[in-house]
Amino acid sequence: MKTIRTTRAMAAWSERLRREGVTIGFVPTMGALHDGHRSLIRTARLRCDALVVSIFVNPSQFSPTEDLSTYPRPITSDRALCREEGVDVCFEPIAQTLYPQGFQTTVTVPALARRWEGAARPHHFTGVATVVTKLFGIVRPHLALFGQKDYQQAVLVRQLAEDLNLGVAIQMRPTVRERDGLAMSSRNIYLDADERRIAPLLSQALRAGQEMIEGGMSNVAAIEQVMRQTIEQAPTIHVEYLAVCDPNSLEPLSVVANRAILLGAVRLGSIRLIDNRPAKIPGRKSRTTQ
Ligand code: AMP
Repeated sequence: MKTIRTTRAMAAWSERLRREGVTIGFVPTMGALHDGHRSLIRTARLRCDALVVSIFVNPSQFSPTEDLSTYPRPITSDRALCREEGVDVCFEPIAQTLYPQGFQTTVTVPALARRWEGAARPHHFTGVATVVTKLFGIVRPHLALFGQKDYQQAVLVRQLAEDLNLGVAIQMRPTVRERDGLAMSSRNIYLDADERRIAPLLSQALRAGQEMIEGGMSNVAAIEQVMRQTIEQAPTIHVEYLAVCDPNSLEPLSVVANRAILLGAVRLGSIRLIDNRPAKIPGRKSRTTQ
């Protein structure tokens, strides 16, 4: 496995492989890799001839009050996981080479970024959309894999790739969970023992909502009430949002007609957790791409 740190060397490697007709798969990450990342890497490995994983803690998607400086950076074990999974290139760009003096262009996907994570974290999705567009321009992948764990992000990236004709196929992979249902996340290490014990309530609440819809319940107010009650069993969890939305536009629904995505974010002390579950009213034909 090669480690590449400059945009020029990365672009040259991809250009050479493309000329040889090799298909390039790409998994962008912020490192602190776990089995959720591993599942994206394995899928990309199976579907493409060559595989690039980027590890870059992107400053522009963090607000000044967030955890940029303390975000975990276990680079040695990250490289080991990549090597183990047959990654060809670990791209670890240096921040100054991605954002040199004078850098000024940004990418926004306004409607998809307006609600949920976008409302809670202003500028976050502009940071994500801009860095992903840049990484696509450097790595020039044929296929890029994103986790359903960050559903809004994946939908937004799919939109920007299409809108800007980036020539990359975007695929979403299911969320990998701990045995008790907690979605794996690089930030779970911040949870103390008490917080870790109650953290699965978020996935349980979303699952309760999912089961209601799969049992035929279409009334969103009733579903949201059950989800909220599930979480409020623990007084130390604060709900930021729990919503039943259209899976493509992410606009909130009042009635589930067919498919929905259930989105949730909670705060446990200073830690934010997000999760989601897809759901479908039984017996209806699908009209979406999900
Ligand atoms: P991050 O390193 O958090 O920026 O995540 C990199 C990629 O891994 C994103 O596409 C995430 O959605 C995906 N990812 C993170 N956690 C999980 C998980 N538990 N299951 C599946 N994919 C995940």
